[in-house]
Amino acid sequence: MSLQVQSQVSLKPFNSFGVDVEARLFAEAHSDTDVREALAYGLEHEVAVLVIGGGSNLLLTADIDSLVLRMATRGIRVLSDDGSKVVIEAEAGEPWHPFVQHTLSLGLSGLENLSLIPGTVGAAPMQNIGAYGVEIKDVFAGLTALDRQSGEMRDFTLQECNFAYRDSLFKQESGRWLILRVRFALDRAAHLHLEYGPVRQRLTEQGIEHPTASDVSQAICSIRNEKLPDPAVLGNAGSFFKNPLVSAALAARLKGEYPDLVAYAQPDGRMKLAAGWLIERAGWKGFREADAGVHKLQALVLVNYGGATGLQLLNLAQRIQKDIFERFHVDLEMEPNRY
Ligand SMILES: Cc1cc2nc3c(=O)[nH]c(=O)nc-3n(C[C@H](O)[C@H](O)[C@H](O)COP(=O)(O)OP(=O)(O)OC[C@H]3O[C@@H](n4cnc5c(N)ncnc54)[C@H](O)[C@@H]3O)c2cc1C
Repeated sequence: MSLQVQSQVSLKPFNSFGVDVEARLFAEAHSDTDVREALAYGLEHEVAVLVIGGGSNLLLTADIDSLVLRMATRGIRVLSDDGSKVVIEAEAGEPWHPFVQHTLSLGLSGLENLSLIPGTVGAAPMQNIGAYGVEIKDVFAGLTALDRQSGEMRDFTLQECNFAYRDSLFKQESGRWLILRVRFALDRAAHLHLEYGPVRQRLTEQGIEHPTASDVSQAICSIRNEKLPDPAVLGNAGSFFKNPLVSAALAARLKGEYPDLVAYAQPDGRMKLAAGWLIERAGWKGFREADAGVHKLQALVLVNYGGATGLQLLNLAQRIQKDIFERFHVDLEMEPNRY
């Protein structure tokens, strides 16, 4: 067996909140064989297998009584290139941002708006990662996953993934699909998305009138570096709550009461509210209790000042949820995966 299984391993370095819990067993998968060995080990020893990538979307609230399998498979390959569209595939364990940079270095456009999102390629489809007006579904060309129920490999098309805002089939059927590699259809000619947030403004400030995909990536990195705390310095999992979708009637009522409410019309007639605005308006920005807090500059980000437990962070999140519901009649859904 090539898989190395360790006992009682601290997961502190493996979750971006920096929460200190232990995994009963821990291993890293460097190949499909390792993945299969880990699943077989789990069956043989009657222990559940929890798959993780970079741990940047996890809230660990207790020691994990499982075999934690960290995806560390590597490899990027071009599958097809017709001169304008290039299909590129990456193994699940590839770190996301370096992969984005690699595609840009090949002169390919499509992933630039998703620059600097932490984590791995394999986890990206789980919640259909998105930023600055782009989601991976917009450039998705397929993936290969292992069905943990049947042990069979399956290729998924875009339609089969049920991608939605921070959601997918893989999240809905949590624990069933182990994503091995993901494919993206990228363009040699840049079709840039500059309308969302301050992207165009940042490029203008930089004196860039005709940006390349790499220029957009750099602008987004600079905006993100200003807005979001670096997990290496201050533990966090990015946005802690999803932006809630509410009825047009509720949004209109809230807008009457709070004229500066941030709300975006959705194709289905509902309105998407900015969760960060609601939390800030309710006075939580900068709140801190022991080592669990709400970031000083970004109300959507919960932070661990060092010694917070997952339960303290969860408790804070639940207090915020309750308060937002009482004030605005809006349900906030947590984004990180809780274990
Ligand atoms: C500072 C910061 C900024 C962020 N910004 C954004 C953002 O702009 N947009 C956004 O969408 N997200 C953002 N996130 C959230 C996070 O980076 C993404 O969700 C990322 O895709 C998680 O990847 P990961 O490898 O760290 O996954 P993990 O946290 O390790 O796992 C997440 C979930 O996926 C499962 N999983 C992981 N790998 C696999 C696999 N190969 N097969 C099956 N299941 C798997 C895990 O079991 C878990 O349920 C941010 C996080 C941080 C800390």
